[in-house]
Amino acid sequence: MRSMEIQCAACGATTLVRAEPVYDGFKKTGEAFICITCGTRYASAEETPFLHAASRPRVFTEADKPRALAIFSEDERQKCCGWCRHFVLNPFSQRCGLTNKETTATDLCVRFEKKATPVPPPPEP
Ligand SMILES: [Zn+2]
Repeated sequence: MRSMEIQCAACGATTLVRAEPVYDGFKKTGEAFICITCGTRYASAEETPFLHAASRPRVFTEADKPRALAIFSEDERQKCCGWCRHFVLNPFSQRCGLTNKETTATDLCVRFEKKATPVPPPPEP
C-alpha cells in the first residue's frame, strides 16, 4: 500500500492526496493525485511529492519470515535427544542409551544420531 502523505509543492503543507484515475477514452492509463489542502493536481505518481518513497526496499517481506523460522526450529528440534535413536523413554525416566545418563527430550547431544521414526531421515545427497 502506497503512502498517500505528501509535502505539497504548491501550498507547502504536509497533507494527503487523493488518487484520481486517468482515462484515455475508456482505458485507464494511470493515476493523478490531488492535494486535499489546496487542490493542486499532480499528473502522475512520479510528479507527486510523496513523503515516503513507495519503492523503498524491504529487507524482509512477510512471506520470508515464517519460512526462515520454520527452517531454524526444524534444525534445532532434530538434534535433540527426543529425536535420537539412543534416547530411551520409559514411564519413570528418560535416559541416553549410550551413556545411561538421565536426559530430557530437549537436550542437545554431540552423539546425536537421528532415529528413523517417526520422521524418516532425509535422503542422502
Ligand atoms: Zn497543496
